[in-house]
Amino acid sequence: ILTINDVAKIISNIAEVIEENKQYLTDLDAAIGDADHGINLDRGFKAVKEKIPQFLDKDIGAILKNVGMVLVSTVGGASGPLYGTFFMRMGSIALGKKAIGDNDIVAMFEAGLSGIKERGKAQAGDKTMIDAIEPALNELKKSLEDGLKFNEALSIAVNASYSGVEMTKKIAARRGRASYLGDRSIGHQDPGATSAYLMIKTVANYVD
Ligand code: ADP
Ligand code: MG
Ligand code: MG
Repeated sequence: ILTINDVAKIISNIAEVIEENKQYLTDLDAAIGDADHGINLDRGFKAVKEKIPQFLDKDIGAILKNVGMVLVSTVGGASGPLYGTFFMRMGSIALGKKAIGDNDIVAMFEAGLSGIKERGKAQAGDKTMIDAIEPALNELKKSLEDGLKFNEALSIAVNASYSGVEMTKKIAARRGRASYLGDRSIGHQDPGATSAYLMIKTVANYVD
């Protein structure tokens, strides 16, 4: 079970992790994009962090919807609307809720991923953030069905997400800026998959 304060703390932890990895994510994007992914996300999550105190008296859905809207308006690039949609869709599942349980979290994650796919028209294997998110969600669901505890299932999901990031090195990009490089994008790790993995790992570290 996560309360409003837990969710707020997770979001601020994500903001910290993004800040710590700002250069790393930007360097990854320099290789196959336009060298701004870390800069974009750090700008967005700094804006998010400033706004969070205004929403602590609301509900988890309201917080996440607002996080999404702030990301859409501050991150820019391809990743801004996609991460924005992810958080807004999670928020619509959690509307009115002051606490969320395991099933809520899975449903939110699922809705968020669907939002990214609808908005960006990408799928697994296109060398995008989806390659870090979808395997995590699949493993999370499978592990819960197998009867694992939520924190155990989440740590398996983190490993699956990491494998997804590693897998992006082996394939050519079919969506986003990196797709302009065609096969020359092979050998490089996708920045968006990397940031998604970092966010999932941050959630798991908190829940642990
Ligand atoms: P931009 O490419 O506009 O500079 P960013 O550098 O912030 O935006 O983000 C790039 C990341 O966005 C990529 O590494 C990829 O993971 C993700 N991305 C790009 N296009 C899509 C898409 N259509 N669907 C999902 N993710 C995408
Ligand atoms: Mg970029
Ligand atoms: Mg850009």
